[in-house]
Amino acid sequence: MNVADSSAITHGLVSYGFIESAIPEDADIIIINSCTVRENTEKQALTEAGKFKAWRRAKKGRRLVLIGCAAERLGEGVKKSYPFIDLVIGAKKIEEVSAIIAASPQPSLTGGEIVLPVKISAYVNIMRGCNNFCSYCIVPYVRGAEVSIPADTIIAEIERLVRNGTKEVTLLGQNVNSYTFQGLDLAGLLEKIHGIDGLLRIRYLTNHPKDMNDRIIKTIARLPKACNHIHLPLQSGSDRVLGLMNRQYTKAQYMDIVKKIKAGIPGVSISSDVLIGFPEETEQDFQETYDLVEKAGFDFCYVFKFSLRKGTAAYDLGDRVGKEEKKKRHIRMLSLTNRIASESNKRFIGRTVEVLAERMEGPRMLGKTMDNGPVDFLCDRSFLGKIIKVKIVETKVHSLIGEMVL
Ligand code: SAH
Ligand code: SF4
Repeated sequence: MNVADSSAITHGLVSYGFIESAIPEDADIIIINSCTVRENTEKQALTEAGKFKAWRRAKKGRRLVLIGCAAERLGEGVKKSYPFIDLVIGAKKIEEVSAIIAASPQPSLTGGEIVLPVKISAYVNIMRGCNNFCSYCIVPYVRGAEVSIPADTIIAEIERLVRNGTKEVTLLGQNVNSYTFQGLDLAGLLEKIHGIDGLLRIRYLTNHPKDMNDRIIKTIARLPKACNHIHLPLQSGSDRVLGLMNRQYTKAQYMDIVKKIKAGIPGVSISSDVLIGFPEETEQDFQETYDLVEKAGFDFCYVFKFSLRKGTAAYDLGDRVGKEEKKKRHIRMLSLTNRIASESNKRFIGRTVEVLAERMEGPRMLGKTMDNGPVDFLCDRSFLGKIIKVKIVETKVHSLIGEMVL
C-alpha cells in the first residue's frame, strides 16, 4: 500500500513540475513514507530518516519529509528526537502530500534526472482505511475508516498506467471484498477493469476471509484476466485466539472458504499470513495454527511476530508470550512455511507456464505466472511487458528457474 501511495505522490509531484532524482542525496527534498504496523517497521522508517541528518544540514533549503502511518501515529512530536525533519504528514492526509509539498516554500531547484520507469506491474489503491478493528492492529487508527475510491477514478488511473506501458495491476485494500461504490461491488469493479484494452492481468490484495463470497469467486473464475491467486490471511488456527483477535471467522469457516475457492477457481493458489505470539496464545493454540497451516494447502505463507501497538484493544493484554517463546514459535512456523513453499513450487517442475516479463535483474528476467509463481529466466529486455512461455527446470523455496520456450 505504501508502494502504491509513493508512486501516486511521485506522479503528483511530477505534475507540479518536480523532478525525481536518481540518487536520493542529489535531491532537494527527501520524502520517507513510513509504516507502523509493527514496532520494527516504525523503527526502520526512523532509522532511514536518521541517515539523512547530515544531508539535510549540508545545504540550505533542503527538506526532509516524513509521511505515512508512523508519521500519523507520532505527529509533530517526532521532531523532538528528530529536529532535522521539516514536515510531518500523516497517513490520513496521504492524498494531499504532493499538494502540501508543492505549496510549501521551495528551495532553488538544482535539477536532477527524470526517472519515471515504466511499471509493467503496478499497484492501485481501490480503497483506504479499515473498519475491522482486529484487536492487534493499528491500521484502522492510523489510516482511518474504510472508504472505497470511486470506480471512475480507479479506471482513469489504470487507463493512464496502461497508456504508459503497464500490463498488470494489483488492486489494493485492507479488505478488497468489501469494496462498494454506488452499488458497484468488487465483482462489478473487476468486470469494469477487465474491459480495459491493453491490460493483461488483474490481481487483488487482501481478501479478508470473513467477506469472501461466491460472487467474487465466480467472477474471478470467469474473467480471463483475473489472476487465480488469493491472499487469504488466516492469522491463527485457534478459535479462541481468532475470537480474541476479533477476526470474525472460525477455523472451520476459514477451511470452508478455502474449499470453495479451490473448487471454484481452476488451478488457484492460496497464500496467507499468520501472526505468532498473540498475548493469549498458548502452546496448544500455536500447535493448532501450525496444524492448520500444514493441512490448508497454502502455496505460500508470511509469518509475523506479534508486536504490541499502543491504542489497539490487545495493548491492554500486554505482550504476554515473551520474547524467547515468540522467537521459538516463529522459527518453528517459518521452517514449516518454507517447507510448504518449496513443496508447492515443485508442482511446476517440467511444466511450461505463461509468465508476464516484469523486470530485469542483470541478464535475467523476473516475472510471475497467473497463479503467482515467481519465475526467473534468461532473456533480453525486448521481451519486457510480454507474456512468455517458460519451461520450469528447477525450483527453489521462493522462486522457479525456467528457460524460454520459443
Ligand atoms: N488487512 C489485512 C492485513 C494488513 S496488515 C488483513 O486483514 O488480512 C498485514 C499483516 O500484518 C497482517 O495480516 C498481520 O498478520 C500483520 N500484523 C498486523 N498487525 C500486527 C501486529 N500488531 N504485530 C505483528 N503483525 C501484525
Ligand atoms: Fe488490520 Fe484487521 Fe483491518 Fe487487516 S482487517 S488492516 S488486520 S484491522
